[in-house]
Amino acid sequence: MHQTHMIINGEQLPLTREKAEMICNPANQEPVALVSAGTRQHAQMALKAAEKAFPLWSGTSSEKRAELLHSAAEMVRQRADFIARLLTQEQGKPLKNARAEVLSSADILDYYAEEGRRNIGEWLATSRGRSIVIRQPVGVAALITPWNYPVDLLSWKVGPCLAAGCTFVAKPPSKAPVAATEFVRAVSDAGLPPGVVNVVHGPGSEVGAELVENPISRKIAFTGQTETGRWIMAQAARHIKRLSLELGGHSPFIVCADADIEKAAAACAQRAFSNMGQICISVNRVYVAEEVAEDFTERLVGQAERLRIGNGLEENVDLGPMFSKEQRAKTKEHVADAVDKGAELLSGGREPEGEAFAKGYFFLPTVLRGAEHSMRVMREETFGPVAPIMKFKTLDEAIKLANDSNYGLAAYVYTRDIATGIQAAERLEAGGVGVNINNVMDYQMPFGGWKESGIGRELGHYGLESFLEIKHIRLGM
Ligand code: NDP
Repeated sequence: MHQTHMIINGEQLPLTREKAEMICNPANQEPVALVSAGTRQHAQMALKAAEKAFPLWSGTSSEKRAELLHSAAEMVRQRADFIARLLTQEQGKPLKNARAEVLSSADILDYYAEEGRRNIGEWLATSRGRSIVIRQPVGVAALITPWNYPVDLLSWKVGPCLAAGCTFVAKPPSKAPVAATEFVRAVSDAGLPPGVVNVVHGPGSEVGAELVENPISRKIAFTGQTETGRWIMAQAARHIKRLSLELGGHSPFIVCADADIEKAAAACAQRAFSNMGQICISVNRVYVAEEVAEDFTERLVGQAERLRIGNGLEENVDLGPMFSKEQRAKTKEHVADAVDKGAELLSGGREPEGEAFAKGYFFLPTVLRGAEHSMRVMREETFGPVAPIMKFKTLDEAIKLANDSNYGLAAYVYTRDIATGIQAAERLEAGGVGVNINNVMDYQMPFGGWKESGIGRELGHYGLESFLEIKHIRLGM
């Protein structure tokens, strides 16, 4: 049985069976790993270790930090198969996707190794004197992450945090902490000084809350639900802590009458169903021009029915199980509510049949026609593989509907007319818009949300800046 230990001050904390949680595979309930159960005291110990290590790490040269981050990326690559297998077993996603996630996290470490070397200051000569502007690491950071991309989303924070010269305490999700902890262990094993990287386990309401409330943490980088983010923001106000919050999403996907319908349907299916719809930038609402609605809908159903579902460890599986019983129950509730209010169920909407699926949280990719904004699926984050379709007459109407949401993370538009695409992108209220592409994430570019989808930006140079404070040094002449 794999054992996953907390890492505090460069040491793995011994795990005792009485104080351990069992993590089980959502595909079949088989045990995956024993994980140490942390408490507020562990969070305090880890914060103190990170505080003690801060002067050494923040004073380390940018070249040395870059060298260590490149070594960390290499260490993650060497262990990619091992970490990916654990990720599939604890989270459910197909092994090929888990491997891609782990390798992407190594690329992000490499990227920030170099981005950290570009933390260059400014100089200004005036009649009143001379001014220098420098950017310095903010201090100890708390990195708190969810279960849908537990390795990738942690790397978005670990890379810029270390490159900026900050030390950290990471708190992975309680129900999927195994691969994320192994990722941090690989980073630590690359030769970072003790206390620079720490991982604690345990419930968000205790261990996460301690990391947020304790004055030692100066910055909180959080990805998770909007409700949790709201609570964190309120607590952070006490010490005016620096914050980046990547929260929930409810992304619209607009298909104009002139779009390449086959391409749009394939892209929509991929973004609505992959990772079982458990992605913050998943397609949640599909708006289709009425002239092409029938053609698009038929193709989307075809795409949904072609996907192969199974245990993520099996070859050629496109979709694994959902992460938990609760996620599946919520998805079913949203589908039932939509059908009650008049939507037509065209595909899925239920568990697949057969012995292979009996013990897992499997669910079929679901297409609904005749969706309306009165339905929960069109307003609340389902976090499940559901594509509800609504027809529109004009693009103005589609944009109004798309913006009628408290969320504003991602939006997508498909059209053959690039001017229409750009004008729509300008009017959509979202932190990222894909025009004829179904992914708004590129690690060299900013990622984040408008409205209740978050505050601050990760990735690109924006990600690094979020771990830096600005200082103006004035010289009298
Ligand atoms: P949660 O908000 O429930 O949990 C996220 C993390 O916060 C977990 O580690 C959790 O610990 C911890 N946590 C919970 N309560 C507190 C607290 N009071 N103080 C500090 N930490 C706390 O989110 P989920 O894990 O359910 O993740 C799904 C959500 O994440 C979705 O809403 C999704 O949209 C969002 N998300 C956003 C992304 C973005 O970039 N905008 C990307 C991916 C997901 P524990 O596990 O112990 O509860």
